[in-house]
Amino acid sequence: MKVAILSAMREEITPFLQKYPHHTQKEIGGNTYFLVNAGGYELILAYSKIGKVHAALSASTMILHFGAEKLIFSGVAGGLNPSLKVGDLIIANKLCQYDVDITAFGHPLGFIPESSVYIEANLTLNALAHEVAREKGITLQEGIIASGDSFIANREKKQWLIDTFGADAVEMEGASVANVCHLLRVPFCILRSISDSADGEADVSFDEFLESSAKVSADFVEAMLQKGL
Ligand code: SAH
Repeated sequence: MKVAILSAMREEITPFLQKYPHHTQKEIGGNTYFLVNAGGYELILAYSKIGKVHAALSASTMILHFGAEKLIFSGVAGGLNPSLKVGDLIIANKLCQYDVDITAFGHPLGFIPESSVYIEANLTLNALAHEVAREKGITLQEGIIASGDSFIANREKKQWLIDTFGADAVEMEGASVANVCHLLRVPFCILRSISDSADGEADVSFDEFLESSAKVSADFVEAMLQKGL
């Protein structure tokens, strides 16, 4: 089975590349795709660069060019739900683009005609994630992930995301990847480990915990692969 593992930043995909040093690689559209056969999978690994456009290009490339049949996103996010602390894990049950705004025409925030505010994640992959978490004694939350092209480091914006979208975590790629996978009918799972709390100290916290939280997320993806997608 061909499985795509996508991250946004180099630091988020590095734990995978360290685990699979014998990959081959191919450049497409300014990104490097790392290919490796491991554990019965043909893995396609990449970091897209930050933001929804980059992530959408990489997800599309992984599916349409490399033939990925399932996609897992691994990375870090800002925690909105107070129960999410640095290093905690969350998978999305649904995702939205909080920065889509055509409310001038009477549409709700986040809504695009012929699409929807929320894109639902894959129940089977999420169930597998919960099973892995149970077996390993890891706490895994499930909730709404809001994505947009801003780093949220502000208490008011954070509260707005909670109030407007019921969001539990915020990041800059997940909803675009979800959209691509949904439209191309590829089951996906968006997994994030918390690097900061999207508040006034978010930048400092992010810099401090990016690597450790990225590793938490990558280790969990490894466990999912071992369990069997
Ligand atoms: N420090 C980096 C920029 C990081 S942007 C640099 O200077 O290059 C934040 C990245 O982590 C994005 O990929 C996003 O998906 C995720 N992220 C973590 N915390 C976030 C937050 N509070 N708001 C938005 N995205 C966040």
